[in-house]
Amino acid sequence: MPTALLRSKGVRPTLLRRETLALLLEAGSPLSLKALSGRFTGKQPDRVSLYRTLNLLESCGLVHKALGADGAWRYCAHSSEGEGCPGNHAHFLCLKCGEMICLKDQPIPNLELPEGFVVHGKQLVAYGLCLRCAAGRVSGCEEEDASAPPQEGPGRAGDEQGSPRRPSRRGSR
Ligand SMILES: [Zn+2]
Ligand SMILES: [Zn+2]
Ligand SMILES: [Zn+2]
Repeated sequence: MPTALLRSKGVRPTLLRRETLALLLEAGSPLSLKALSGRFTGKQPDRVSLYRTLNLLESCGLVHKALGADGAWRYCAHSSEGEGCPGNHAHFLCLKCGEMICLKDQPIPNLELPEGFVVHGKQLVAYGLCLRCAAGRVSGCEEEDASAPPQEGPGRAGDEQGSPRRPSRRGSR
C-alpha cells in the first residue's frame, strides 16, 4: 500500500520511503525520529536519509509533523482511506512517556495574520499526562500530595486545603 500511495503522489517508491511510510501508517500516532528509527527491522537507516525522507513525505502531503514541548518533531501518517491526514489538527503530548496523539477531529483555528505574511505551518499542542501516566501518578508532586493517604489520627492543623476534612472512616450510608 505505501507503494501505491507514493506513486499516487508522483514519488518514486524507494525502499526507505516505502518502509518509512509503512511504519508510520502502522504506528497510527506521531513518532519522533528516534522512535521511528528504532522500529526499522534489520538495518537502521542513517538519520540524515530518514530525515530527508520524512521531509519529502511531508511535502507531498503523506505525512504531517508536530513539534513536542520537549523539542522533538514527531511525524505521523494516517491511512489514506478517506481524506488522509493533512495535519491541520491539534495534538496532545504526554510529558512523561513521550507519546503523542493526533486530535484529528479538532482543527487548528484560523489565524489572522498581517497582510503579506506567509504561513508554513501551524501548531496546537496540548501537553500533560496521558491516561496511563495520569493513572500511574508516579511523578507530579501535586497529584502525589492529593492522593496521599490521610494521616492516621486527628487531622493536622496545618491543612491548607480550605475544605473541612472529614473523618476518613465514615460508615457508608
Ligand atoms: Zn496523525
Ligand atoms: Zn504517558
Ligand atoms: Zn496529527
